[in-house]
Amino acid sequence: MLTFDDEISTTTIPALDALLNPKAAEAAPASSSGRIRVEDKRIINCKADVNQLVPFKYKWAWEKYLAACANHWMPQEVNMTADIALWKSDKLSDDERRLIKRNLGFFTTADSLAANNIVLGSYRHITNPECRQFLLRQAFEEAIHTHAYQYIVESLGLDEGEIFNMYHEVPSIRNKDEFLLPFIDVLTNPEFKTGTPETDQALLRSLIVFACIMEGLFFYVGFVQILALGRQNKMTGAAEQYQYILRDESMHLNFGVDLINQIKMENPHLWTAEFREEVRGLMQKGVELEYAYAEDTMPRGILGLNATMFKEYLRFIANRRCQQIGVDILYQGASNPFPWMSEMIDLKKEKNFFETRVTEYQTGGSLSWD
Ligand code: FE
Repeated sequence: MLTFDDEISTTTIPALDALLNPKAAEAAPASSSGRIRVEDKRIINCKADVNQLVPFKYKWAWEKYLAACANHWMPQEVNMTADIALWKSDKLSDDERRLIKRNLGFFTTADSLAANNIVLGSYRHITNPECRQFLLRQAFEEAIHTHAYQYIVESLGLDEGEIFNMYHEVPSIRNKDEFLLPFIDVLTNPEFKTGTPETDQALLRSLIVFACIMEGLFFYVGFVQILALGRQNKMTGAAEQYQYILRDESMHLNFGVDLINQIKMENPHLWTAEFREEVRGLMQKGVELEYAYAEDTMPRGILGLNATMFKEYLRFIANRRCQQIGVDILYQGASNPFPWMSEMIDLKKEKNFFETRVTEYQTGGSLSWD
């Protein structure tokens, strides 16, 4: 165990050396003192000290970290009384109940997958402290989301075993997770290291699948379902929880997009025509899996929604994800059949650093000193 009596070798920690011996540091030029320089920072395969947050290079990452913190919320703050009364009543159809349960069946485990992917996978390979700061915040938000789904399941008195096992037992959910798992497993493998074009592409591929397909495509359909219920004054507590989650996830997606684009800029040799085609293929596969899930959860069409509308929505969202990372769109002319979703997410805010700076963040959880 390290105690404060242990002697720290200042010769191996140049920054500390400079702090303890300011005269010596003054004498040495900055570049040879080992101090971090902005130009040495890189998102992947960085040799500079990852323990020093500043000087900032990627201000977009730091700004997103601050914005995410300003959005802090907790599931217990949302009143679930109306949902509990509705669930116990006879005012929900069997189709609506099926949709709610399967929706929770996907999400209860999806955000655990997301958290594990960050903590055990991508965090290790992102060698930049500003980005890691955001990832730490994001990991906590994934925990809050899992908490929110658990809280809904508990509030409604649902069979926990049934809901939490749906990702094993319901094929339309299982198939989505089976698609995702190899991209998570590659990063969590302790033997995996970046540093070659192949492994760097493997990391980039996983980041794209995670941000653009999992969080950016699979999550959005699930959000539409519950928010559509909320618009009809049903499951309003759950819908409120999902709105908070949607706000967080929009930020995760935007951070992921910026991260991907920055890695592309710093490592243009990874972004080959072949790789871009592969990404389009993965996106297409994601759309197919999500469409099968939409059909399974809404076999007869409810809430003014049906599977055909979801097909169009998926195509629209998939095109948007392709555009965000600079890949040719897949579906010409696809339009948004749920314009109200844009208002709810506020697509105007769904911008990222490489398109335009976000200036409008929700700051409900932050103090104002005015
Ligand atoms: Fe997320």
